[in-house]
Amino acid sequence: MRTIIKNTTAFIGENFDRYNGIDILIEDELIKKIGKNIEASNKDEVLNCKDFFVTPGFVNAHFHPSQQLNRALGVGLSHDEQMDLLHASDRIKKPDDKYWLSYMAVLEGLKAGTTCFYSVGSEIETQIKVYNNLGIRAACTLIPKDIEANEKDELVRAKTWDAKERIKTAEEFHKKYHSNLVRVHFGIATVRYASDELILGMQKLAEKYDVYFHMHAAEGNEYVTAVQKRTSDRPVEHLYKIGALNHRVSLAHMTKLTKEEIKYLVEKKVHVVHCPRANSYVAVGVCPVKELFDAGVNVCLGSDAAINNNSNRVLSDAHAAFDKLADKYERADIIDYLTLFKMLTINGAKAMGLEKKIGTIEEGKNADLVLWSKNDYPFIPGFNLLADLIFADDGCMAHTVFINGKKILENYKSTMMNEEELKQQAKAIAVRYYSLFKEQVSKNL
Ligand SMILES: [Zn+2]
Repeated sequence: MRTIIKNTTAFIGENFDRYNGIDILIEDELIKKIGKNIEASNKDEVLNCKDFFVTPGFVNAHFHPSQQLNRALGVGLSHDEQMDLLHASDRIKKPDDKYWLSYMAVLEGLKAGTTCFYSVGSEIETQIKVYNNLGIRAACTLIPKDIEANEKDELVRAKTWDAKERIKTAEEFHKKYHSNLVRVHFGIATVRYASDELILGMQKLAEKYDVYFHMHAAEGNEYVTAVQKRTSDRPVEHLYKIGALNHRVSLAHMTKLTKEEIKYLVEKKVHVVHCPRANSYVAVGVCPVKELFDAGVNVCLGSDAAINNNSNRVLSDAHAAFDKLADKYERADIIDYLTLFKMLTINGAKAMGLEKKIGTIEEGKNADLVLWSKNDYPFIPGFNLLADLIFADDGCMAHTVFINGKKILENYKSTMMNEEELKQQAKAIAVRYYSLFKEQVSKNL
């Protein structure tokens, strides 16, 4: 199967150089050729894309689609209070609820240009099904806890697992579900509630199967204090001491870091996932992005949605990342839009070990491409289209999306599933869930 995206504007290579009047040939899963006047045969699909521009798809490097049902139920709560609400409400959810609502979260992200998700949770079997059905690239990761939150009332305690059992399950899931498109990686929730045995056991599997490892870390003062109380170490310091930092590891949030801890990240080539809007939403502080970049750490972006952020559009996190730095330093040149664009694409790919496959438009890479219509409002006048994407973020909608060479979104709609039917399912679940939530959860907290 060959498709030629004809006569378009495209941002090519690691520096996103702009080319006008260029063709992109997609053959099977790959970007086969980029050039002027690529010849088409009768069998080829030819898309005349003069009024479009093409970017690589975005990577949302920290994402909880299964939490969509709690979106906007905890506005104004601190991080710990938000988690308490989530754990209490998990008890009234039926297994299928999270499955159907995950479609809403993933589709919202896809329509804003996300083609790859680092997707975490306890229900990755249903997440894997969602990504496969929609044709979307992801790495799904179980993020268990094995230390009981005894300081909390039973109603709001998270589910904990036996470390050995969960490591075994994670390996079984990897063997059963890992594929080229939907990968199965390894991880834990947080060093606050995970033993060294669980952390190192999951990391061993990442090494064994040559995939990556993901977790939350240093997410606010309560997190840091709790880890210090249990281990006498700060979170990143503890991970360093037990030998749990390496190039396969990405750590989300990271708002509370010392200079020493940043040195550990550099030494061990650890990736940091900046989640600016989520960090603001639950008030856990600001990730020191400038200091991390200055030190040479790879920093990418995550939405941490659906509850700690209420929006699954990681594009808007690039905008928020700019705002936070400009406000902090009272300078508009601390981070430039091309760096933000790298955070959205190739840096995220690096954090997932996928930089040879995705993150840029280059011959030989997988065809994960987004076509944006130049007739859409954010792109008129369209003098600097990449900056338009970042700063007109909430108005930008992907017109057509290819993932792994397959057209999975066309004219703003999924080609894989009936979106209206998915919405009806999700809405019906939401109505039932909300009345139970009011009756059994919010009243008791
Ligand atoms: Zn998270």
